This record gives sequence, C-alpha cells and structure tokens, in this order.
Amino acid sequence: MTTLDYATVLQRYEPVIGLETHVELGTASKMFCGCSTTFGADPNTQVCAVCLGLPGALPVANEKAIESTIRIGLALNCSIASWCRFARKNYFYPDMPKNFQTSQYDEPLCVDGYLDVEVGGHVVRVGIERVHLEEDTGKNTHVGTSGRIHGADYSLVDYNRAGIPLVEIVTKPVAGTGELAPEVARAYVTELRDILRFLGVSDVRMEQGSLRCDVNTSLNRPGEPWGTRTETKNVNSLRSIERAVRSEILRQAEVLDSGGVVVQETRHFEEHTGDTRRGRSKEEATDYRYFPEPDLVPIAPDPEWVEALRKELPESPAARRNRIREQLGVSADDMVQMGNAGVIELVGATVEAGAPVAEARNWWLGYLAQMANERDIEPGELPIGPGSVARAISLVADGTLTVALARQAVDGVLETGKDIDAVVAERQLRVVSDSGALEEAAEAAIAAHPDVADKIRAGKVAAVGALVGSVMKATRGQADAAAVKAILLRKLDVEG
Ligand code: ADP
Ligand code: MG
Ligand code: ZN
Repeated sequence: MTTLDYATVLQRYEPVIGLETHVELGTASKMFCGCSTTFGADPNTQVCAVCLGLPGALPVANEKAIESTIRIGLALNCSIASWCRFARKNYFYPDMPKNFQTSQYDEPLCVDGYLDVEVGGHVVRVGIERVHLEEDTGKNTHVGTSGRIHGADYSLVDYNRAGIPLVEIVTKPVAGTGELAPEVARAYVTELRDILRFLGVSDVRMEQGSLRCDVNTSLNRPGEPWGTRTETKNVNSLRSIERAVRSEILRQAEVLDSGGVVVQETRHFEEHTGDTRRGRSKEEATDYRYFPEPDLVPIAPDPEWVEALRKELPESPAARRNRIREQLGVSADDMVQMGNAGVIELVGATVEAGAPVAEARNWWLGYLAQMANERDIEPGELPIGPGSVARAISLVADGTLTVALARQAVDGVLETGKDIDAVVAERQLRVVSDSGALEEAAEAAIAAHPDVADKIRAGKVAAVGALVGSVMKATRGQADAAAVKAILLRKLDVEG
C-alpha cells in the first residue's frame, strides 16, 4: 500500500495508458467448427475434433464472426484490410489443446481507427491500433483452497469455451490525459461496450467474461520519453478499470521516486484490496513463433460487402445521445445528471414511446433510480422498459391513475415482469372517481376527526392534510388527492 497522494504524484509524472479488450462474439457456433457457444452448458459437452485439436481436423472460418469483426472495425473508424491471414500463436497451456491459438498477428482485419470518449466535459480521442479476430481458450478450474494453480490439489479443464470467436481491440497509447487517465480508461471501455451492444455482436458481460480488459499503464517525468508499461489483467468491472489505473500510477510513482525502475510485467488486479499484484514478466512476442496458419484460406473481404456493412451500421451511442440531447432540449445540468445516472438513453426511449420529456426525466431520475438503487443495479437493468414507463405516464395523464397508483403499477411490473396493463387490471388499480363514494368517505373522515374539522373551519386550512390522508386510506390510495381535498374543503365551507 502506498502513502502517496494521487494529485501530487500527477504533478511530477505523466501517465500513459493503453487498453487491450477481448470480446467474445455472440455467434451461434464457434470460430472454426460448428460447435455451439451457449454459455453454462455441462463441461466438455460442446466440443469436437476441431476445437479439441485432434490430429487431422481441419478448421473452417466462421463468416458471421468475420462480418462482426469488420462491423466493429467500421464502428471504430478503422481501415479494413483487403487481404489478411490468420496466424498460429504457439504456446503450450492445458486449456488450449492445439498448443497454438489461431489468431492474427501482423495482418489484422482492421487497423488504425479511433474512438472519441467524453470525460468531465472534455472529448478525448483514443486511437485504435488494431482489431483482430482470434479464438478463445478453454477454462481451467484449479481445485483446492488457493483457487490458483499453485497449491491446487488438481485442475479441471472445460473446453466448451475453446474456439469461441474472440475479437481483440487494442488502443494506441493514450497520453496527455494527466490525472484523468483512470477516468479516460473507464470511459473508453464503457463507450466501447455500448458500441458493441448497439452492433449486437456480443452480450458484453464483464462479469461473465464475454468482455475482458487488460490495462497498460506507464509513467514518465514531463519532457522525458514514455516509461515502461505494465499490463494489468483480471479487471472485471468498469469500476475496477478505473481503480487499476489509479493504483498502478501510485505504485509506479513510488518505484520511480525511490530511484527504482518499473519492470515490464503482467500484474493482476485484486478486487478486495484495489491493488495490483505481480504476475509473470512479459515474454517477447517472438517467443510465440507466429507463422501464417496453413490450414485456413486468407480473408479477402469484397469491398462492396464492406461498404454495404458500413451503410448498415446502426447509429452510434454517441450520435444517439447527441440526438436525444437535442430532441429533449434539456439543460446541460440535467444532461450531466442523466448521464451520471446512466438514464439518457432510457429517458430518450421513453420520450420516443410517447411520454413528455419532463415526466420521463422525473420517473427515471426519481422513482426508478431509487428502485435501482435499492436493488444495487443500474436503472437500465431494472426489469421494466421505457414502453411501460411511458404507459404509466400516460395512465396518469389521462386520469386513470394517480402518481401513487402508477408507482404501484410499476412495482407490480418490477415484481412480476408482467405487462403494465395486466398489472393494473389484476390489482384493480384505478382512481376512485365515483363521487358518491368519495363524498361518503369525506363525511366519514370529518365525523371521525371533529377537532381537525374545527381547526380547518377556524382558518387553519393546512390541517386538511390529515383528513385527506384518512380518505386516501379508506379508498386504499385509489383516490385523487387533489379532488379529495376539494371535496373536504367544500364540505367544511372553506375556500381552498
Ligand atoms: P502485448 O500483447 O504485448 O500486450 P499489444 O500491442 O497487444 O502488446 O498491446 C500493448 C498495449 O500497450 C497497447 O494498448 C498499447 O497502446 C499500450 N502501450 C504501449 N506502450 C505503452 C506505454 N509506454 N504506456 C502505456 N501503454 C502502452
Ligand atoms: Mg496483448
Ligand atoms: Zn468444435
């Protein structure tokens, strides 16, 4: 643990970061065989001669995976290679039965793009070095108290994941962001995740490992060349990315302060301490003895096909946000608030579904944000969509429900996952507009609280709240509070 202060460290050193992101594509079958890619199947039930690397088995590239990779490259403003090959990356590890990974080396499918991310009102352009296609490895489980290979009693290998198409997206080094480096790293991965989700190429779940990130960090003194980078692995959430960069900056500053040198090595992020721990030191790329894969034909995407894919790209999350911003016409403060709460998209979609802006904003920043908070999830993860929220808003607008009743309806959707109209019907949620019933309840409330009634008659109009409360109770919250108040005041001969 370091005792250094982050802000003062950033006066003495400049950080450079670089991100390597692996994303498992959501194709139905694996990269080089027809095996299923479904997550969570029994171990070693989704394997064949090809993905087990049995002698003589021949791979065939998955066209859909190539298409998805090209679409990712296009969305990241990359050039698409007109001709490229797969390469063998040779190394031995039990989770990789072929003893090489089919990957791309000096001929990646997409190169030289960029992604703009917004941090604290600034736009930072993150250069994209390459986007290439490879295959995932199997999964080792080390059985024993340590959970790691050291000290394990034995290890189990599941090859279901071996051969799932994996895209690696590597950024160019990002310099000049100063103390914002950790936030830039996080914002980049967040934006990338949203793009991948918009493209529909992956389910991008960091917790399930379908989106994985390695974070490179180095420090240099102002005016000096970039320092030696370390590569932090195991960073499994957006928050951890930010923490990993910050902790690595502090650790390296401490090393450099004491006259030491930073060693190029792999480090592991530890969630519980927020620090990085030493892994293996980095081998040279040549150790992998890369050579072109002789069992696969080169990829030569037809330029017309690439152009067609470019034309069909969905609107980017950033463009969509800007459009929503303009459409909603909300204030800059509101936009920041909605951005922080992660509800811009949701508010936009709710407005698209017919709700007025102010109402959509209030629901997502108010009641729904609170519901998400109680469940410790993001508002977007609530089991309710913008359509239902828009419906709740319209039910209030047309007088079918009060806001309190609409919240009950929303609660019902959150609890049961049912359609909001079904919840309203089942729970018989509606404003009691039967004036006879309301008049009766109002008279009963006045009779039950003569002292309150006297106070109101004597001019203390605010006391009517207690009577309104008692009528609302009697009608199980189904009355319109404003209407009830009006009835009570009329009966007491008081002007509202
Ligand atoms: P490797 O597979 O050896 O990690 P890659 O080229 O795949 O190499 O990725 C290296 C990553 O490190 C890239 O994102 C790159 O931008 C980043 N990087 C390179 N030099 C530095 C540096 N001095 N400081 C921080 N990051 C760096
Ligand atoms: Mg790498
Ligand atoms: Zn297979």
